[in-house]
Amino acid sequence: MTFATLGLIEPLQRALETLGYQTPTPVQAQAIPAVLAGRDLMAAAQTGTGKTAAFAVPLLQLLTMEGPKVAANSARALILCPTRELAEQVHASVAEYAQNLPLTTYAVYGGVSINPQMMKLRKGVDVLVATPGRLIDLFRQNALKLNQLQTLVLDEADRMLDLGFSEELANIYRMLPKKRQTLLFSATFSDEIRTLAGQMLNDPLSIEVSPRNVAANTVKQWVVPVDKKRKPELFVHLMRKGRWKQVLVFAKTRNGVDALVDKLQGLGINADGIHGDKPQATRQRALDRFKSSDVQILVATDVAARGLDIEDLPLVVNFDLPIVAEDYIHRIGRTGRAGNTGEAISLVCADEVNMLSAIEMLTRQTLTRHMEQDFEPEHRVPDTDASGQVVKKPKKPKKPKASGGGGKRNLGKWVDSGEVAPAEPSIKPVRKVPVFNTGPRKKK
Ligand code: AMP
Repeated sequence: MTFATLGLIEPLQRALETLGYQTPTPVQAQAIPAVLAGRDLMAAAQTGTGKTAAFAVPLLQLLTMEGPKVAANSARALILCPTRELAEQVHASVAEYAQNLPLTTYAVYGGVSINPQMMKLRKGVDVLVATPGRLIDLFRQNALKLNQLQTLVLDEADRMLDLGFSEELANIYRMLPKKRQTLLFSATFSDEIRTLAGQMLNDPLSIEVSPRNVAANTVKQWVVPVDKKRKPELFVHLMRKGRWKQVLVFAKTRNGVDALVDKLQGLGINADGIHGDKPQATRQRALDRFKSSDVQILVATDVAARGLDIEDLPLVVNFDLPIVAEDYIHRIGRTGRAGNTGEAISLVCADEVNMLSAIEMLTRQTLTRHMEQDFEPEHRVPDTDASGQVVKKPKKPKKPKASGGGGKRNLGKWVDSGEVAPAEPSIKPVRKVPVFNTGPRKKK
């Protein structure tokens, strides 16, 4: 399956290609056609499954293809997120997906000055990402009208309720036009979420993506940072040093498989490769020889390796990281089976940092890095952690500003260079005073 077969328009396909998304993740495969068909959605999907693109990409397509131009102080799509960090992250993704489209996007949240946000909303924005409290404040101050709203997304709805936003959500619900599309994403479906869904959704399609995001804890996993061009050399070095006997190696592309196999065979190493271009019989033969230890190193693409029944292996090497983070779990699941211990080593170059970050987020762990002597990369692999942060460059600390607020924030990127976690609290978890009962609501 490709993004083209899901019915996406060319500018979106191009944006996804630029981001290295080759195949839709399961939640994308299910959600994209349903959203394009105008359905409401109730989706059980966690961070790391590709859920952001699952709602944002079809939503952007609908905004491009349908509906009038955005009016002043209006939004055509609203994505509600529980925290400022998530709002920034979602906005960064939306902006990337929309890079070839004539649409405007923006994120608003509390903890920063409201005035620049009000100014920005004057011309209207096609896609607004917001935390509930700030959205209500903007609405109350007439900086935002919602009568042009086509689509509402509730992202991480369970977390919004956990953080005490149920009253805000009820208030926002009253602000919305009756005719709209609503997409609800939640990791879990408690009774409270189901009640919310019952109120907000109209004949929703239910989607569930099983969270195969816990890597076997019997597998020792580590990463070796290296420059891309030195990967083959590093592989051979590690192989000799560790006296590897039977290794399943994953490479990203068919050419990558062939190039590595050629290189290894050229060094007299007993290696073979399997990928989608090879006939099934050849693949099976290579696999059989690998299983019977006639072949020491088997290099494969994900597609070729999927569904292969390979008995327990001591070692899996990710020569390249997988493009879809979930494939990492499939790959390392070939080792450490049935309580045996296994090892999974990933050779990671600077280009792959986003994939590394996605894997760490999905598996909720920060992978240990081992620098191999004489292979230290010239192109540093930025630091990552399980929260999905990528620290692009260490920066000298800035002098603190005299006054808070008003500073220009970088909203266009998931992670600001050098800035890992904003210090200010991003939300007030529980708002005790009902916002709407304290003053008259001005409506046009
Ligand atoms: P999300 O669940 O939306 O937070 O996405 C998790 C990570 O997977 C992010 O780094 C995305 O950029 C990445 N991602 C989402 N969809 C795909 C895809 N189809 N192929 C590759 N990476 C993806």
